[in-house]
Amino acid sequence: MPFYWNPIYWLFVGPALLLMLYAQWRVRTAYNKWGRVPNRTGLPGAKVAERLLIENGLSGIRIQGIGGQLTDNYDPRSKTLNLSQGTATQSSVAAMAIVAHEVGHAQQDATGSLLLRLRSGLVPAVNIGSQLGPILFLVGFFLQFTPLMWLGIAFFSMAFVFALVTLPVEIDASSRAMKMLRASGLVTGETERRGVRAVLTAAALTYVAALLMALSQLLYYVTLASGSRRRR
Ligand SMILES: [Zn+2]
Repeated sequence: MPFYWNPIYWLFVGPALLLMLYAQWRVRTAYNKWGRVPNRTGLPGAKVAERLLIENGLSGIRIQGIGGQLTDNYDPRSKTLNLSQGTATQSSVAAMAIVAHEVGHAQQDATGSLLLRLRSGLVPAVNIGSQLGPILFLVGFFLQFTPLMWLGIAFFSMAFVFALVTLPVEIDASSRAMKMLRASGLVTGETERRGVRAVLTAAALTYVAALLMALSQLLYYVTLASGSRRRR
């Protein structure tokens, strides 16, 4: 039996899942801690965003609100910096770090970052692949028709490629964030630097976990497909 009711599945995916839970716990802990520490300039996230955009010559980018908590993102298609209410209004070290990370994405976009463009271009393929892949695989599995299983794997591997491209994009956005915050004098002391780094590192860890998750699922499918070929 494939998937969730097979103990072998959990043997493959378990470690990645544990890392994902750990990373999410780290994000919450870092946010709870550094969300309470006011930044030295007293600027709320939205103002930090405005200042970083201007200082780095990033014009034509809109800042707008988005619902939810920690839902902040930069949309390269509409050139919009979407900030959650908590991030936009709080003048904390955490809010400053999150905003700077998203401005980092805007800067990647403005400088024509190849990886960012590749990631955006992959989205439609990933959406189709991650829906169709498991279906094709399952049908192939139950029919014991190995070529269909491999076709499913090929579709599903798009999710892995996406996670693989996403990780360097995210790490680069965070390193840009730190550079911009220091250059603008928004981060000066050791405490603020430590806080920003803690928030950004925790976020990066979730992308490492996502990559490991995609890889372990892919390996599980590959193992099933190879085993089915051996049985024939
Ligand atoms: Zn990001």
